[in-house]
Amino acid sequence: MLLPNTGVSAALFVAGALCFLGGIIALQTRNHATGASSLITLMFSLCWWDVTYGLFLANTPALYSNFWLHVVYIGVVFTPPSVLWFVMQILGLTAWSRPPFVISLYAISALVLTLVITDSRHGLFFGGREITNAEMILSGGPIFWANLAYSYTLMLTSLFILTHRFRKATGIYRKQLGIILLGVGIPWISNLIFVSGLSPLPKVDTTPLSFTVTGMIFTYALLRFRLLEIIPIARDVLIENMSDGVIVLDSQNRLVDFNPAALQSLELDQPPQMGQPASEIFAKWAELAQDFSSVNDVRVELTFDQPARAFLDLKISSLYDHNANFLGRLIVWRDITPLKNAQAELQEQAIRDPLTGLYNRRYLNEALTRELARAARERYPISLALIDIDDFKRLNDEYGHPAGDSVLRGFAKQLLDQTRVEDMAYRYGGEEFLVLLPNCPGANAVNIADKWRKSFSTANPSYKNGTKEFTISCGIAEFPTDGRTGAELIAAADQFLYQAKATGKNRVVARANR
Ligand code: GH3
Ligand code: MG
Ligand code: MG
Repeated sequence: MLLPNTGVSAALFVAGALCFLGGIIALQTRNHATGASSLITLMFSLCWWDVTYGLFLANTPALYSNFWLHVVYIGVVFTPPSVLWFVMQILGLTAWSRPPFVISLYAISALVLTLVITDSRHGLFFGGREITNAEMILSGGPIFWANLAYSYTLMLTSLFILTHRFRKATGIYRKQLGIILLGVGIPWISNLIFVSGLSPLPKVDTTPLSFTVTGMIFTYALLRFRLLEIIPIARDVLIENMSDGVIVLDSQNRLVDFNPAALQSLELDQPPQMGQPASEIFAKWAELAQDFSSVNDVRVELTFDQPARAFLDLKISSLYDHNANFLGRLIVWRDITPLKNAQAELQEQAIRDPLTGLYNRRYLNEALTRELARAARERYPISLALIDIDDFKRLNDEYGHPAGDSVLRGFAKQLLDQTRVEDMAYRYGGEEFLVLLPNCPGANAVNIADKWRKSFSTANPSYKNGTKEFTISCGIAEFPTDGRTGAELIAAADQFLYQAKATGKNRVVARANR
């Protein structure tokens, strides 16, 4: 008879109580969470293992020979599959953690258990060795070794898939996986210590204690980090509250999932049914459904003109399972109409002069290059008129800056009224304006500018330049005769404007023979 190992027994009872408590807490507070079912199974298996092994070590009378071995083995065989099941659930390996596979794992363990209990009839487990009241069984028959290999395989698989995922994980998920990895690693470390002969209790099997630590770490992760709930909750909160529309279609283009934002933007009369064809769901966007029904990965900007102008940024991503089988498609879209409108407004602001509403100098540079290229290609002339208001400083000085502003605005309007749609008027500087007249020879432009000049002189009767009206001067350059580039043309027009100023102002000047 062995001496009761009371210290270890007490430790095992405490461990068993902790496992029981962990299992109950998991059952009561988190039984719907991912990973909870496997964790509860694990905790109760461990509790059984700890308590029965503790009772055995405390020399509790046995009902029959090998009674305690049989009882303890219930906990032993069900622990490794529970660890693997837990890891699979946590990693979201849904295909594997489905009942058929999990039941198979436990069925193998149950078979081993049956063979342990019925060993006296076949000797497959203990291999004919006389085992009574052994603290540990270190050798046995073929089923003993097969079970050992099976348990190690389950634990090794857990370790392997966890490590693999841990290496790819980031952020809080990585931290959470790290803790679980530690839990799975503890029995391995304990095993190493035992095998290397460094264990302080070389005659006692410390495996149930190390697995208890594993169970406690898993439970800690469950309670403290709310680990087992965070993933599905995060998914729900994120998808449900997203302002982006989200729709998931299966490989046959049938509806699998959607969020409220999707319903709202699709304006469906009634909520769609799971399995409803995409063509019905996207009825509002019939053309889109047609165009994209076979496209797998695309990001497009869609424009709608009915009922109002609207823009969507839509992304389709293909979904594949772990074995690269095509599962369906994820469609996410965002209404970018406000963004587009703001962008258009900004673009407009960037090219318009705020005082007069005419295009500004920045836009001129862009337009000039484009217009000259077209004129060269289609072989027509362009006239460029550079206008400067005469003695404008005096107008400002005598009537005030606001008066000057109103004259500038009035002249801008006059230019718009007195030019063709294809002409483009720019505010070139303070009181300088530039007009591009495509397909208009210089001689014609001179006549047109002269009309502007005459109109301007009668447009502001309330302001007098001494005894006379305020006037404008204008220089006209023609493409391609006066220059082939924008810079050359502007320089030529400036030259003629200078001549207009030098020869008395209030005139239009172009090349002499025009
Ligand atoms: P010139 O006949 O030689 O062109 O004489 P000018 O007085 O028009 O010549 P100058 O270029 O020296 O004066 C331009 C004036 O235009 C100076 C500036 O104060 C005024 N100015 C520039 N931008 C604005 C504006 O936005 N509003 C008003 N009211 N005045 C402006
Ligand atoms: Mg000037
Ligand atoms: Mg001036």
